[in-house]
Amino acid sequence: MAIIRILQYPDIRLKTIARQVEDFKSPEFQQIVDNMFETHYAAENCAALAATQLDIEHPPHVTVIDFSEKKNEPLCLVNAKIVERSGKRTEPEGCMSVGCDIGANVYEKVSRADIIKVEAFDRHGEPLNFEADGFMAKCIQHELDHLDGKIFLDCLSKLKRHRIEQKLLKLKRQLKTDP
Ligand code: ZN
Repeated sequence: MAIIRILQYPDIRLKTIARQVEDFKSPEFQQIVDNMFETHYAAENCAALAATQLDIEHPPHVTVIDFSEKKNEPLCLVNAKIVERSGKRTEPEGCMSVGCDIGANVYEKVSRADIIKVEAFDRHGEPLNFEADGFMAKCIQHELDHLDGKIFLDCLSKLKRHRIEQKLLKLKRQLKTDP
């Protein structure tokens, strides 16, 4: 297994749209899933990762999720789709691809559906149908955005986004000038 580099905003590759997975049985695909979990567990404060936020060529439509305390509840969703959304919940969100490389904690409130119905496959191609709410629903919506080439900053107003970009630039400059 291997740890994969987590791409950092504004890396243009964060806009990559994931490819649908067809060959679940290929060793290359299984290796990517293993590496994604290893990367997830090696990263501090990580709840989930999407393949498009990692340094992977032609990233597959995969997200790995585990926010259990003991890190022993891995969930891998492949080709996942949200087929129903209801309610609304506005909560702060952060992202492993925004500011993590420079130690900036960027959290902003994002509005998402409160309850979602998900259709997906597990890493072996078995269908999964389930309903999610709370943190899990937020997590899945955030990760599926990644797989569509979007990050949570895209959900914010231009003004808020601009403020965050300025903050990140300032921090980067400080890191460069600090001995
Ligand atoms: Zn993210």
